Amino acid sequence: MADSSIPVEDYQSSPTWRSKDQAQPVVYPSEDDLKSVLAKISTLPPLVSPVEVERLRYQLSNVAQGKAFILQAGDCAELFDYCTPKQIEAKLKLSLLMSLIIIWGARIPVVRIGRIAGQYAKPRSKPTETVTRRDEQGNEYKEEILSYRGDNINAFPPDSKQRTPDPERLLQAYFHSTATLNHIRSSLSSGLADLHAPRQWSFQHVKSSALQQEFESVVDSLTDALDFMRTIGADGGVKEPSVAGQGSVLNSVDYFISHEGLSLEYEEALTRLSHLPYQRSSRRILKGGDRVEQARYALSAHTLWLGDRTRQLDGAHMDYFSSIRNPIGIKVGPSMKPQELVDILDVLNPDVELPSSSEDWEEEEEEEGWEGYEGEYDHGVTKSPSPSQSPSSSTSRSRSSRRRMGKVKGRVMIIIRMGASKISTNLPPLLRAVKESAHSSSVIFLCDPMHGNTVISPSDPSGQLKTRAFGDIISELVSSLEIHSQEGTRLGGVHLELTGDEDVTECYGGSMRLGPEELERNYQSHCDPRLNFEQSLDVAFLLSHYLRK
Ligand code: PEP
Ligand code: MN
Repeated sequence: MADSSIPVEDYQSSPTWRSKDQAQPVVYPSEDDLKSVLAKISTLPPLVSPVEVERLRYQLSNVAQGKAFILQAGDCAELFDYCTPKQIEAKLKLSLLMSLIIIWGARIPVVRIGRIAGQYAKPRSKPTETVTRRDEQGNEYKEEILSYRGDNINAFPPDSKQRTPDPERLLQAYFHSTATLNHIRSSLSSGLADLHAPRQWSFQHVKSSALQQEFESVVDSLTDALDFMRTIGADGGVKEPSVAGQGSVLNSVDYFISHEGLSLEYEEALTRLSHLPYQRSSRRILKGGDRVEQARYALSAHTLWLGDRTRQLDGAHMDYFSSIRNPIGIKVGPSMKPQELVDILDVLNPDVELPSSSEDWEEEEEEEGWEGYEGEYDHGVTKSPSPSQSPSSSTSRSRSSRRRMGKVKGRVMIIIRMGASKISTNLPPLLRAVKESAHSSSVIFLCDPMHGNTVISPSDPSGQLKTRAFGDIISELVSSLEIHSQEGTRLGGVHLELTGDEDVTECYGGSMRLGPEELERNYQSHCDPRLNFEQSLDVAFLLSHYLRK
């Protein structure tokens, strides 16, 4: 294996994004303070490693080929205060339970990605908000203050001092992310995901008896199957527990982390130039005619997504995202035009030179034994090389005449968030445009049934409380599955906002029959409303039934 350590001096700012317009900018009172915080972050260890990023890339290439399904889920806005063992474990357990239900029902591997360990920054529809105050005489007056932009930017309490962006918060975000991820890694390596003990996966706070029964039956069958495997010695035996990025035995799992890549300064400080971790892949990755042995990795998370408000074709975010090797997501709302989507994909997943035909690489494959890498590329068009790109005969025995260009499979996750009422009009033209483009077999489509379905609670007299009807969420999800099947495309996963904390009341409906009038009982989110534990299991069962068909 090539050297996968990342010397700090290899950190390259290569900031072409800095010369582009940045949507959702944050203005700090002191540029110097910001710079010194960023300089500090750029010397700290990255949160994840290129090896783990490559592992996710490989798993997503399987998703693009229909061999696995993605469950990307977590808070809308993670708070620093959520960095407690209880809350982290609750989220992790819920993700594991949901994936177990899907795997068991639909018999398809699930790639688990949390919106966790860094999901702090929030895009806002308005940069400021109006608050009503009273003066000493009791007269009402209005004050305009900056909107809350997430715990890594400013504080939630609605006063102008608290809302002033503070760069120290970026450093705090780094340390809270690190502590959260450390707890995820230690929980997983201590057996939190142990499938041999599904009975310990308590879900006592589920109210619906139908859901209780359904889960009981999954646990019963799973226990039987595992007993059987142990009896015949097919359970892989006892292996070392593993951290995210290494697990493939029954007592452990992979769990990847993600967040919106909104704060580009922060992301840049954790972007490192690294040797590609696998020797064989480094021989195989070719760009612009040159063999690329190093690449820029965003190492604040395994994957980042571009928000619906920051995905301008000529904007800073698009530029940054196109410069990193991680798999990336892009949120797609109702304003996206079909051709615009294809243009965006062209930027995010340009043609790369593909590995030559397999016999050219046979020796290296045997040497390195890294299976499956070939599958990551979409074998597309063949182009004759231009004279300047023509490789010299000494670099390869057989690359002398033709270069094969194509897309990286699974590089881009298109996260559709239309809303239940718009999906049937808006989704089909987008799917057709992608199908007719060079990206047809490399993209992954995800359904985010949350963000297009946010409404003001019908029972809130102040007209402020944001909620989502469970029925709308399910309706968008089911429509998405049906539209993909009509269009001959595939739903590769879901993107959800949820919490594992008990009895949260932010979305209404579901098998627990939570009414809109009950929302204020335990509404906690500082941003968008999340599915609670029970509503999340409802979604998992729906998916497992639907995907089995
Ligand atoms: C989010 O995922 O919390 C979000 C703000 O999404 P979008 O960019 O789709 O609005
Ligand atoms: Mn949200």
